[in-house]
Amino acid sequence: MIVVVRMLAFGDGELRPVNVPDAEVDGLDTMSVLEKVWHYGQNDIQPVEDRYSVSVGDVVLYRGELFIARPCGWALMTPAELERYEKLDHTGRLRHARQDTPEHKRYINHYRCSECGTSWDDEWDCTCNDRCPKCNVEIEPHSSDEIEAPA
Ligand SMILES: [Zn+2]
Repeated sequence: MIVVVRMLAFGDGELRPVNVPDAEVDGLDTMSVLEKVWHYGQNDIQPVEDRYSVSVGDVVLYRGELFIARPCGWALMTPAELERYEKLDHTGRLRHARQDTPEHKRYINHYRCSECGTSWDDEWDCTCNDRCPKCNVEIEPHSSDEIEAPA
């Protein structure tokens, strides 16, 4: 299945086709399909010449609905929102894409890979899943510490 991503985070609306293997999206809900789109939209997974990897701030049209990539996953977007969003510059778009994240909050997330046992910490502005640095499995944080971001 080809899903087309509009590169609005770093690009200027160029299109990047992302080829997600049909067998992998069989029976998945929309958000899970979009996670696959994110995964296969990375240049180290599926390189596309002259295109950035899919990034926070990019927009996808999937089954007639618009979604914007946010720091913690994809969120629905209305056509009117997209129209306003397209008129913003790069900085404005990134700010918009991250708008649901309280700016003063950051987290140290603690992860342990269920496959290989690797433990790691990562600082992020939400309690996001991360990928194991060794085996690339997606892992939920087992705990998170809220910290104050530097002013
Ligand atoms: Zn691992």
